Amino acid sequence: MDVENKGTKKELGLVHVYTGNGKGKTTAALGLAFRAVGCGLRAAMVQFLKPSEEYGEQLAAEKLDGFEIISMGLDHMCSEVSRSEDIRLAHEALARLSEILSSGKHDLVIADEINVAMSWELLEPEEVIEVLEKRAPCTEVVLTGRGAPKKIIDYADLVTEMLLVKHPFDRGVPARRGVEF
Ligand code: ATP
Ligand code: MG
Repeated sequence: MDVENKGTKKELGLVHVYTGNGKGKTTAALGLAFRAVGCGLRAAMVQFLKPSEEYGEQLAAEKLDGFEIISMGLDHMCSEVSRSEDIRLAHEALARLSEILSSGKHDLVIADEINVAMSWELLEPEEVIEVLEKRAPCTEVVLTGRGAPKKIIDYADLVTEMLLVKHPFDRGVPARRGVEF
C-alpha cells in the first residue's frame, strides 16, 4: 500500500468546498475521509461548530486508525451578546486548523462548518485563504458548511452545492441519531 501511495499522495493538494442548504455536506466530507483512510491515507477533521459530544462520526473516528476529529468550542447558537467570544473561538479553531495544515501529518484535512463561521462574519475569507496557502504540499482540503463566500468559491478547485429539494425536518421529523448526528 505504501508503495502505491507514494504516487497517490503526489496527486493531492486541491481544495474542495461543499456548501448549499441541502443535507449531505458534512457526510460527503466524512465519506471522503473514509475512502482516504481505506487507501492508507491519513485524514483529520476540525469541527468549527462543536455539536454534541456524541455525534456518530466522533465515535466512529475513535475506532479508525488514520482519522482524527478535533472538536472546537464554537457553538451552533451564536448570539450578539457573545459575539466577541464567538470570534475568539472561531480564531482558536482557525489556529488549530493552521497547525494541522502546515504540519504535513495529514493527507486530507476537513474544516467542517468553516463556511458557516465565514458567513456569520466570525472569520474573514482572506484569513482562511492565508491559512490554506500555507498548507503542506500534497494536502487535500475540504471546507464544508452553508453560505460559502464568493472569495472561497473562487479560490477552490472543486465546489459542490447541495440543493435542498425536500427535508423531513420541514414536516416536523426531528433529527435522528445515526442519520443527522
Ligand atoms: P449532514 O451532516 O447530514 O451531511 P449537512 O452537513 O449538509 O448535513 P448542516 O447544514 O451542517 O448539514 O446541518 C446541520 C444538521 O442539520 C445536521 O444534523 C444535518 O443532518 C441537518 N440538516 C441538513 N440539511 C438540513 C435541512 N435542509 N433541514 C433540516 N435539517 C438539515
Ligand atoms: Mg454540516
